[in-house]
Amino acid sequence: MLTFGVVFLFLQRIGHASARYWGFGYLSAAFGFATPLVLGGLPFEVQAILSNLLFFSAFFLFGHALLTHFEQPLYTKARLSIVIVAALLVSFHVVVTPDLKRELVIGDLICALLLAIPVLVVRKRPVTLVDRMMVAIAALVVAETLVRIGALLVMTPNGSMIELSEFFESDYAFYMQLTASIFGFLLALSVLASQVSVTVDRHQHAAEHDPLTDVLNRRGFDRHVPDFRNETPDGAVITCDIDHFKRINDIYGHAAGDIVLISLSDLLRRHTSNGARVARFGGEEFVVFLPRQTAAAAGQVANGIRAAFSSLDWKNRGILDQITASFGVSAIARGDHSIHDAIKRADDSLYAAKRGGRDQVVLEGARLPAEGPSLRVISGR
Ligand code: GH3
Ligand code: MG
Ligand code: MG
Repeated sequence: MLTFGVVFLFLQRIGHASARYWGFGYLSAAFGFATPLVLGGLPFEVQAILSNLLFFSAFFLFGHALLTHFEQPLYTKARLSIVIVAALLVSFHVVVTPDLKRELVIGDLICALLLAIPVLVVRKRPVTLVDRMMVAIAALVVAETLVRIGALLVMTPNGSMIELSEFFESDYAFYMQLTASIFGFLLALSVLASQVSVTVDRHQHAAEHDPLTDVLNRRGFDRHVPDFRNETPDGAVITCDIDHFKRINDIYGHAAGDIVLISLSDLLRRHTSNGARVARFGGEEFVVFLPRQTAAAAGQVANGIRAAFSSLDWKNRGILDQITASFGVSAIARGDHSIHDAIKRADDSLYAAKRGGRDQVVLEGARLPAEGPSLRVISGR
């Protein structure tokens, strides 16, 4: 438990915020188990109260970690009050009317409660398999603690007092330590898996997304579009480039330019379906892959984005100009070796759109009925 505590505290630097609470929780549990070793010289009452407090804080922190991990309300005051009441109750049964059995039952019951509340709060939150496993094992820890209390009540006849020496030599004490260690170990492993997966996901997201607009970057795009090795997928590609963007930057500043980039990427996301892949390929150049769409349909989508973008009012951002963008569209064709073949053709159309006066969509491929001056069709390659 000491090892896991240290590992989680280390992980907080690269992992999730909850790692710190798992870390201190496991350290608390480790010292709770170690009190007879570490504080052997102190009076029994002090040891008993301290070890109970350490276990309460361990379970409080485990709960805190779960709630933090799933971004749920922390109920800190309510859970702390449980700890305070429990500490008073346990101290009473250690100091005023010494009763080891009651002390054990109350101690375990409170630990179970401190973990059960967060488990109940987060039970529907886990999405990934590792997170589900972690919550399931936390629930098992609660169940195991309750079973242990049941076993203690069954194994000792009503009203009997247990002596401390008897307790340490009892089967109960042995199984208590054994099961607590096993479940503590399983919980730690599942937490470790969850922390590692959070860390990997976060770094993967950072590696595959553009930090300014949060759409895919080139690497992310390449990873998320279909593979052409087995068969040519169905779909179309839109490329898009803001018109005279350098001028926007020059007149209104880079920060204003950034806002324009974010707005365009929001439009691209909103105007395309869930399966579409939106990526920022360079400064102000975006690429969208639309699976199972024809060039004609993609052209309509692009024209909708173009119209929406050109009609945006930037005055409250301090930009007094109308801003437009040009679009090129191409369908994936048989014989394409990768999505980049289609992107290349869409880019050619995009440059035709620039040459044709900007603020327009140029469609490569099959001829379509005329759509007005802003959606032009140029014939095949
Ligand atoms: P055209 O209509 O021919 O596309 O002209 P343009 O000015 O848009 O084209 P150009 O490629 O000359 O300019 C692109 C500009 O994009 C230059 C650069 O300052 C700006 N840019 C690139 N990345 C960013 C960014 O992350 N933020 C901001 N604000 N500007 C960027
Ligand atoms: Mg441009
Ligand atoms: Mg450009």
